[in-house]
Amino acid sequence: MKQDFDVIIVGLGPVGSLATLLLEGYGLKVLAIDRDKDIYSLPRAVTISDQGVRIAQEANIDDIYLQNSTELGGAGFVNKDLEFIGGVLSLKGVITSNGWTPSRMFHQPFTDQAIRDKLQETKATILLEHELIEVKDKATHVSAFIQNLKDDKKVEFSSKYLIGSDGGSSSVRKLLQIGQEDLEYNRDWVVVDVKLNGENRLDDKALQVCDPKRICTYIPSHLPFRRWEFIINEGEDKNEFLDIKKIQDLISRWLEPSEYEIIRKAVYQFHSVIANNFCQGSCFLIGDAAHQNPPFMGEGMMSGYRDAMNLCWKIALTLKHNLNDKLIETYQEERKPHAQFVVENSAGIGELMEAYAKTEDPSQVPKELVAKGYGSFVLPNLDEGLFYGGKADDSMNAGQLFPQPVIYKDNEVVERNDEILGKGFALISKNKIEVNNQDNEFLKKIGCSFVTLKAHVINQNYWIEKIMELGEVFIVRPDKYIFGCSSNKVSLEKLIDDLRKRIENN
Ligand SMILES: Cc1cc2nc3c(=O)[nH]c(=O)nc-3n(C[C@H](O)[C@H](O)[C@H](O)COP(=O)(O)OP(=O)(O)OC[C@H]3O[C@@H](n4cnc5c(N)ncnc54)[C@H](O)[C@@H]3O)c2cc1C
Repeated sequence: MKQDFDVIIVGLGPVGSLATLLLEGYGLKVLAIDRDKDIYSLPRAVTISDQGVRIAQEANIDDIYLQNSTELGGAGFVNKDLEFIGGVLSLKGVITSNGWTPSRMFHQPFTDQAIRDKLQETKATILLEHELIEVKDKATHVSAFIQNLKDDKKVEFSSKYLIGSDGGSSSVRKLLQIGQEDLEYNRDWVVVDVKLNGENRLDDKALQVCDPKRICTYIPSHLPFRRWEFIINEGEDKNEFLDIKKIQDLISRWLEPSEYEIIRKAVYQFHSVIANNFCQGSCFLIGDAAHQNPPFMGEGMMSGYRDAMNLCWKIALTLKHNLNDKLIETYQEERKPHAQFVVENSAGIGELMEAYAKTEDPSQVPKELVAKGYGSFVLPNLDEGLFYGGKADDSMNAGQLFPQPVIYKDNEVVERNDEILGKGFALISKNKIEVNNQDNEFLKKIGCSFVTLKAHVINQNYWIEKIMELGEVFIVRPDKYIFGCSSNKVSLEKLIDDLRKRIENN
């Protein structure tokens, strides 16, 4: 049966929007719908990580983030007197192997709107005020029943795959009867965004304030904005926390009411939950539909960005080459453990704040809690999945991201050149290489480019220089993760053969 679309995307929050742009960029026929007419209006994401901006590059939306964001100065835990307990005091000027500063603070209403506008310029079919009400995964295709909320008409569309990026209360997840595991952080917090009236005199570091009276987070959002998040203690009435006087009182240790205007406020229950499955048949969950965490790590949307990046190239390659589902099945295998780490460690920061707040002496806080809280500063690599031998391997850097080639001028990065690595798979080496005809055929089929890194690129890029010491030829996936590298232990033929077995039809 001929399908109406290659992929239907349900939910155009930041994660579904990214997936739409990526799939459309790969040349697929995409339908993307959202129940709402407008972008989400309450305070949510404020930080985008280095990997997040690198992924945004793939969808040509990095400029949108850059124009609406500021580098984060640092991040740490402080006591009730705002004295430093631990964390990363300064991040200024740090450039990671992804070619970006570790974290940027952005203003989501600006970025979401600009991305929404960009979607309208693509060939994707975008239907706003349309809600998914039923989904049937048939053997050959997926049928989605969608209600037009303007005239109540119900339409059926078919596609090869369906992606649920429809947020925490995901209809796709519920309709597919996919359960969730509650990782047991459920606390009410009030979140407030303000616009400063005058010059900023506040810190440029994100602070987790471990005050026994009330733990809270201060976030130096993109100027002229600032964000505070305050826990609502047990027994307190959460409705009172949206009262302007109450909010002014909470912020009073930082600012006088005359110094700002409250622009957005919301009470949330911060959850930590993860879906039991990220895919079922030809349907997939990405973003908050698959996992939700308290925002202390600033990584919820980032996890969703990683989901979209991981899944979309696999869908595109599978459809283009009529592959079986072997490749696509690695989505859950690779993403679920990583997303679970983010959920658990985000909750870990909240638990660590509470533990620090309960003691005068931070050294009394149990080591496991400290490890979990601070563990969040370094994310793990991928573990099992589409890597040589099926498992990440440090000796090859398999499971890690290949560094982005950058150009520095006067100690500043002036160019980021992921395009050198190509859009698809890449065979990256210092010297020109040749492969036998059979391998060449296969590599051509999966759109693999041969990239010989010029000496000046290697010399200018510390991370690439280091990585190239591990082997001769690196196979890098379209999402820039390293599949493996050839060396005196593994020949290039063996490496390519393993890749072929893992993605081709049996
Ligand atoms: C206070 C707070 C601060 C945060 N800070 C950060 C941060 O700094 N950095 C970070 O990375 N993350 C942060 N997060 C997390 C981040 O906001 C979320 O992970 C992110 O918004 C999830 O995006 P999404 O696209 O998956 O879902 P959503 O943004 O929830 O989008 C889902 C979309 O699906 C639509 N939809 C739902 N059901 C249907 C249906 N049946 N049919 C059609 N459409 C439907 C909805 O209308 C909505 O537009 C924060 C979260 C909170 C609450």
